[in-house]
Amino acid sequence: MAEQKLNRTTVNRKALIVGTGLGGLTTAMRLAHQGYKVEMVEKYHQAGGRLNQLKKDGFTWDLGPSFFSMSYEFDNFFKDIGIKAPFEFVELDPLYTVNIRNDDRRYTIYKDLDRLAEEFREIEPDFKKNMEKLLKSSGKFFHDTEELVIKQNFNSLMQYLLTLARVPWHHSPKMIRTVWKELERHFSSEQVKQIFSLVAFFLGATPYDTPAVYTLLTYTELVHDGYYNVRGGMYKIVEGLLDEMKKMGIEINYNTEITGYETKNGQVSALVDAQGKKWEADTYIINGDAAGFRHQVFNRKRYTEEKLDKMKWTLAPFTMYLGVKGKIDNLEHHNYFLGDNFEDYANKIFKNSINLDKPYYYVNVNSKFNEEMAPPGHENLFILCPVPDLRYKPDWSDRDKLADDIMSDLSERSGFDVKENLVTKTIYDPVDWRDAFNLYRGSGLGLAHDLNQIGYFRPKNNDEEFDNVYYVGASTIPGTGLPMTVISSKLVTERILAEHGPVHA
Ligand SMILES: Cc1cc2nc3c(=O)[nH]c(=O)nc-3n(C[C@H](O)[C@H](O)[C@H](O)COP(=O)(O)OP(=O)(O)OC[C@H]3O[C@@H](n4cnc5c(N)ncnc54)[C@H](O)[C@@H]3O)c2cc1C
Repeated sequence: MAEQKLNRTTVNRKALIVGTGLGGLTTAMRLAHQGYKVEMVEKYHQAGGRLNQLKKDGFTWDLGPSFFSMSYEFDNFFKDIGIKAPFEFVELDPLYTVNIRNDDRRYTIYKDLDRLAEEFREIEPDFKKNMEKLLKSSGKFFHDTEELVIKQNFNSLMQYLLTLARVPWHHSPKMIRTVWKELERHFSSEQVKQIFSLVAFFLGATPYDTPAVYTLLTYTELVHDGYYNVRGGMYKIVEGLLDEMKKMGIEINYNTEITGYETKNGQVSALVDAQGKKWEADTYIINGDAAGFRHQVFNRKRYTEEKLDKMKWTLAPFTMYLGVKGKIDNLEHHNYFLGDNFEDYANKIFKNSINLDKPYYYVNVNSKFNEEMAPPGHENLFILCPVPDLRYKPDWSDRDKLADDIMSDLSERSGFDVKENLVTKTIYDPVDWRDAFNLYRGSGLGLAHDLNQIGYFRPKNNDEEFDNVYYVGASTIPGTGLPMTVISSKLVTERILAEHGPVHA
């Protein structure tokens, strides 16, 4: 099939990219580097997608992502397109702190295993030995699959299964065990198990139903590269890429939402925006949600609302952007606040069968690292509380109550009166997130990552019907998170070049 489409004589082949999320931006640059003429359309008023920025009342906040792992994927990207990194990332150490309700201790998560073991000395005396054991096996799984499975395009189920068959068999118990069971095999304290099982929530499931293979995220967190921040805030990534894109002649049209399409000879001949304007190109790359777009714009039978609602989605974000007067000594840069009902919470939060009175949330005080993001003597707080998606809680008219509960809880646990010192407050509930970036049911990280929604089973990066339409981003392969979307741009570019060839100007 790839051979049939190959057309290496193309001159100035034009690509239209729908969406300026990280996946869209990096694909645009990769294709421009290969000689494509690239134009982009974006529904929102500025670039970045979920990796966005809010400015208000003298404060600046990153809208979504606040750190990332696998920084070398950015290095690889810049090497691929022959430029220097236009932003500076800085390794986090310590990584974050965890506060558990009714536990007086605050756990600081260091990369250094000796320091980390010291944090858990009283509750998990053999921490270092047991963590080393876990990291050895999860690290082995990571390296046995990273190049072989994660960074691959698959063209058939058979190819996918044959590839999986090459993963060493000794990892197979990890497919059957859950993350929680794997942690139970290594640790006895509830706190340690809870802290190192938080990764499961990022994938769209609980530690009680996520396969143990995903303890590889503990390996990426503690050993393989760690976590990174960006000097000046995460949005510097987008600003840096935009500067480079300008030099490459890539044009972006904002406030433009694609809602329809036209076809000719079995291919898409134009995408049509909400105002009826036609956008023509030779190749179309969709950076909007790969499942949601197939439903909303292409009306695909495999992606009806009913079928999408049966899929597993990651939790929705309830986010708050606060500016406060004063400095908060008891908060670090990255902080998690957990309750004291972990298993109950984990099992009920996805379906909204739990009272959100005692929320679990994450607080980022970026002004501790980037002082310029708040006026002198102030802090900027980003609070993320994962909540059920809009299938389970469609009505957010009660959002002020949750915001209030979180501020009260944080005030009590940090010893800093957030409400009393509040200068500015903005809330984005799941409806806002859905409407801003077309996130299906408001799901924050897109499709979940259980075994039947990854690899060959994830919505593909090439369209089922039109051979000039492709997808990039969190809900196609390989998955969610910033480094994964950079890999996604590499995979889709490789596919486009394999099917249509590079452009000779
Ligand atoms: C609150 C929050 C916190 C997060 N924290 C982290 C973190 O700390 N670390 C991390 O690695 N990841 C984090 N993530 C995940 C990360 O943000 C995403 O995985 C990544 O940014 C997704 O990029 P993407 O390329 O898929 O595109 P998106 O960011 O989804 O961008 C897609 C773009 O397409 C546009 N679009 C959609 N449909 C259309 C249409 N029909 N017409 C025109 N434009 C359209 C949208 O407006 C959007 O701008 C977080 C996500 C959220 C929501």
